[in-house]
This record gives sequence, C-alpha cells and structure tokens, in this order.
Amino acid sequence: MSFNLDKITRENVKGLSPYSSARDEYVSDGSTMVFLDANENPFENGVNRYPDPQQRGLKAILAEQKGIKEENILLGNGSDEVLDLLFRAFCEPKQDNIITLPPTYGMYKVLSGINMVENKEVLLIHDFQPNVEEILKTIDSNSKLLFICSPNNPTGNSFSTKKIEELLNSFNGLVVIDEAYIDFSSEESWTSKLSEFPNLIITQTLSKAYGMAGIRLGICIASAEIIAVVNKIKPPYNVNQLTQDKATLRVLDRDAVNNEVSQILTERAKLEVALKTVSFVEKIYPSDANFILAKVDDASLRYDQLLEKGVVVRNRTTQPLCENTLRFTVGSAVENKTLAKALNLI
Ligand SMILES: *Cc1c(COP(=O)(O)O)cnc(C)c1O
Repeated sequence: MSFNLDKITRENVKGLSPYSSARDEYVSDGSTMVFLDANENPFENGVNRYPDPQQRGLKAILAEQKGIKEENILLGNGSDEVLDLLFRAFCEPKQDNIITLPPTYGMYKVLSGINMVENKEVLLIHDFQPNVEEILKTIDSNSKLLFICSPNNPTGNSFSTKKIEELLNSFNGLVVIDEAYIDFSSEESWTSKLSEFPNLIITQTLSKAYGMAGIRLGICIASAEIIAVVNKIKPPYNVNQLTQDKATLRVLDRDAVNNEVSQILTERAKLEVALKTVSFVEKIYPSDANFILAKVDDASLRYDQLLEKGVVVRNRTTQPLCENTLRFTVGSAVENKTLAKALNLI
C-alpha cells in the first residue's frame, strides 16, 4: 500500500494556513505580562480571557498519560467535532466517499449527509466482525475515510486486531478507529501503534469512562502530519476555558476515573447475570463497553413497558442486524437494580 497524505487532502485545505489569533502567540501564565492584544475585558473572573487555542496544558498531560507527543493530539468540542473536521479536511463534497460498517455509531452517516459525502456501507458479519474482503472490494479511488468503531456501538464487541491491521495495511485512505469505549475494553488502545501506520487516526472522548459528557471534549490522535492538516481548519477557540479546566482536573485524577470504570465493569457483569434470568431476553451479546446489547422477543413492546416503569433504554431494532434488540447502558448499582426489578415485573 502507498499512503500519501498530500494526495488525500482536499486541494483548498492544502492552501490554508491556520488562523492565527492573539492567544496563539501569548498565553497568560499568571506572570506580569499586560495583555492588550485581544480586546478582552480586563476584569478577572476566570473566563474573561480567550482560552488557549492549542490547549497546551491539557495536551501535555494527555500526551504523557498516553505515551505520545503533543503534536500527535488535536482536541475538539466532543469527538463529534473531531469527526466533522476529518470530513472537512479530507472529503471533497459530491466526489469522495467514506466506508462505514453498520450496525455502528450513527454520527458517521449523519456527518456524511451534512458534508455531502457518499457513505458506502459494508455490513458486519459473524460475531459482528468486519467483512474485510467486502470492504476491500467496496473501496475505490475516491474512498477517503474508513470508520472502525471498536468497541463498537451498539453491538459492544471489539473488532479483531488482525482484521483491523489488514485494513490499515491495504487501504490508501485514512482508517479512523473510534475508541470511545476503549477504557472499558480488555483490548489495548491503538495509540501504541501510531508509528507503525501512517494512515491511522484514533478518536477518544471524555464523554464515557471519564464521566464528562457535559463538557464536550473529544481527542484525535494521529501522526504529526495528519494533525497539522486538521489544525488548519480547526476553529481557534473550539475548546472553551471551562472545558479545559475541568478536563485537566479530571484526567489528573486517574484513581477516581479507574475506580468508576472498575465499578461499571462489576455492574456490567451483574447486569449480564440479571438479563439472563429475564424470560423474554433471547440473546445477550458479549460486551467490551459500558452497555449491553440484548435480543428480546419484541423490542418495541419491551421498550414501551420499561418506559412505563420509568426506565429509558435504547431500542435498536431498526438498525441492520439488530432486529428486536435493546441496548442497556450500565448504570449505578441502584439504577441497575431498578432496571432488573422492572424487567422482572413486565
Ligand atoms: C458516545 C460516542 C462518542 C462520543 O462522542 P462525543 O462527541 O465525544 O460525546 C463517540 N463515538 C462513539 C462510537 C460513541 O458511542
């Protein structure tokens, strides 16, 4: 394979240089500098200054924790913004296409519609694994991005390392591995393989294991060259000061995060046991994430019945290969008891 970043970058993006803002050049470090460059209000309240557009403090911590360099990281307003930036950097509207592997995260398709980029779908096969042969047949010279969600939402399983590697090796476009659920997984993150694959992009998020869906922080990890391209189109202040502050405190508190993750994993095992006792549950799919997909007799009926009992789950019955499935997020011990009780009453 011959991956060539220049060849897959949109022409208009190649010609851009990043917007240079006042805060790109000088960031307040609490010293005696006087900042009269950005038309800010000088009365301090914690957020009166523009945030650091490159989020240097937060990136330094993330880089250290993940064993990568700061130049390998781009941060976004949730991974949803990161994904959108990838479309805008690499996919020419009405010309290029992406490959997705349903059933999977709905946002890839939504973004392909917004950006007028064709979405070529190749269904997963046995055990919800990628159909490598069919994917390779579907790829054409206009295929720019291949989205691999592992662990996959809504199926919960991780994809085989060998299959992902095969795709990385044979696709000349970018392979985006969405690791939103990696902290719940028994598999290792692909971040350690960054130097092996020039076409590898990894996305992670603070929305799931880190318990910070409300602050909107997404992480894009790739070669310095890829990050430099995406940086050209990133809105300068896409990650606000409150988010940078909160995220920094949270990623530094590794014990708290690990503790919550291990509680969620314990609860996941208990939920699996509870689901097995429910008469209308026909199949429970193995989960590497913080949710469990289960096949029931009639998903829409059971969904409505749970709703009546005050429990909201996700009905995935309209998704390909997911007929009559419900997706249960693993909640707290108390929430899971409420769910188990409701399931046994209906
Ligand atoms: C929840 C989820 C995300 C998170 O998106 P954010 O915008 O970071 O909140 C990303 N990918 C997948 C597959 C998800 O399920």
